[in-house]
Amino acid sequence: MKKFAPASISLRGLILIFVFLAVIATLCNSLFVAYEVQRDALITSALKANRAYAFKVASGIDEFLRSVHERLSYSSEVLGRHFNDPKVFKDEVRRMQAQDSELNSVMVIDAAGKALQLYPEQPAIVGTTLVSDEIQEALKAQRPLVSRAYETVTGNLIVFISQPVRSPSGEYLGLIGASIFIKQRGVLHTLIASHALLDGTYAFVTDDNRRLLYHWDEHRIGDVLPFSPTVDAALLGERGTMEADNYRGIAMLAGYARVERANWAVVTQQPRDQALAPLATLMRNMLVNIIAPGLIGLVLILLGATLITRPLRQLANSATQLSAPEATERLGSINAWYAEAAAIRSALLNSVQLLQQKLGRLRRAAESDALTGLANRRAMDEGLRALDQSGQHYCALALDIDRFKRVNDTYGHDVGDLVLKQVASIIQEHSRAEDLACRAGGEEFTLLLPGISLATAGEVAERIRVAIATAVFEQIESLTISIGVACRSDETPTPETILKHADELLYQAKQTGRNRVVVQTLAVNAIE
Ligand code: GH3
Ligand code: MG
Ligand code: MG
Repeated sequence: MKKFAPASISLRGLILIFVFLAVIATLCNSLFVAYEVQRDALITSALKANRAYAFKVASGIDEFLRSVHERLSYSSEVLGRHFNDPKVFKDEVRRMQAQDSELNSVMVIDAAGKALQLYPEQPAIVGTTLVSDEIQEALKAQRPLVSRAYETVTGNLIVFISQPVRSPSGEYLGLIGASIFIKQRGVLHTLIASHALLDGTYAFVTDDNRRLLYHWDEHRIGDVLPFSPTVDAALLGERGTMEADNYRGIAMLAGYARVERANWAVVTQQPRDQALAPLATLMRNMLVNIIAPGLIGLVLILLGATLITRPLRQLANSATQLSAPEATERLGSINAWYAEAAAIRSALLNSVQLLQQKLGRLRRAAESDALTGLANRRAMDEGLRALDQSGQHYCALALDIDRFKRVNDTYGHDVGDLVLKQVASIIQEHSRAEDLACRAGGEEFTLLLPGISLATAGEVAERIRVAIATAVFEQIESLTISIGVACRSDETPTPETILKHADELLYQAKQTGRNRVVVQTLAVNAIE
């Protein structure tokens, strides 16, 4: 297929480029939106799950502390009634500790801070006054309390849960308290560690100093966190979710809750990257699912673009060759199947017709005599050649106006021209559509008569002679013409011999007095 201009890009190329860009843009947009939506969904669900988990753990710890307080409260009543009886002390403290394996030790302290009883027994401590801040605070508060984590003189990190002891009359006598060694595996492990680390999610518990009471990495228990927005929020009494970096700068999706009874914070969190791990798989699946229909779509677009642009391309190619002889045929064969292409095709067909009409006029002008409008010599030669090649029978008349020189001499050249035109139109009137009347030169004419016998040709010649002889000319009095008639025959087989013989017969007519017709004489067996 011919290209119109080497640098120009085709319509199909343009359509494909734009469609391709649009498809890519839509695809990217879809993937981006899907990514955002999926990511938000994953983050929201991770945050919600962590909040629920944190709340569950906090409630569990609260429930545990409440039950410890309840049991201590029962014992404190017993002790309050028998505060001067060391045996009751001993029994009660042992019973408490034995009853609850989660409690590492139980002790009774009087209002001044002196240790009265301890289990498991530690004789070194009994009788001494305990001065730690946490014990002093509990004595001062005179109400059920859960202490912060603190280190004892023996080096254990503990949390102290206490209940005041009062006499039946309401006098404050001291307290009974239970310690939990938080570095040992105990109640917090039981409450929390069930599904930690499975998907990167883990929980930790701190007191209100941000000291870790529980962490999956047991080495960190007892450490104080330098900062923690989630712990701070939980300690404010809120329950909620937060996206925040942990102390190592890793982005976390956290849920948090507060242990009411102890003012502890429970935080459960999952590294953001781990929560978003399924996103890559989701996007990959989506891309795979999009690619197949996307390719089918592109193929359909390719076909569509080809179908739409093919008529335009063919029309554009034809438009560059409108003057070619087969232009009409070529345009007609183009399948202009939609309105715009059909309109262009019909416009092109119109211009081809106009062009060919114009060319036809030019051709006719080149082949006709300017004065008379009859065919000129060249056209006559073509006509003769065509007749000769067709093999059909035909006759030729050679006509010459008599004494025309005199017309010119008497009336002038212009009048002579007008007379020539009139004679030409008389000759034309006496010929059929298939005949060819020519001005052979000057005041000489030739009339070619296809498919006609010699006799009929003689009759035609005679009718022309009479018509001219009897015609009324405005400018001159009268005019005559002499005619020689010859046909295709054995003696005159070629166009040249026919014309030559017609000229000879014309000459004879002139010689024998003018204003006459001389017809060829044929041998008897000559073919007419
Ligand atoms: P004859 O009967 O022997 O044919 O005599 P004739 O005068 O017709 O013959 P001749 O050949 O001697 O003269 C032809 C004249 O026709 C000569 C020329 O001036 C004139 N003629 C030729 N062409 C034209 C033309 O285009 N216009 C005019 N007005 N005259 C022409
Ligand atoms: Mg002449
Ligand atoms: Mg003449």
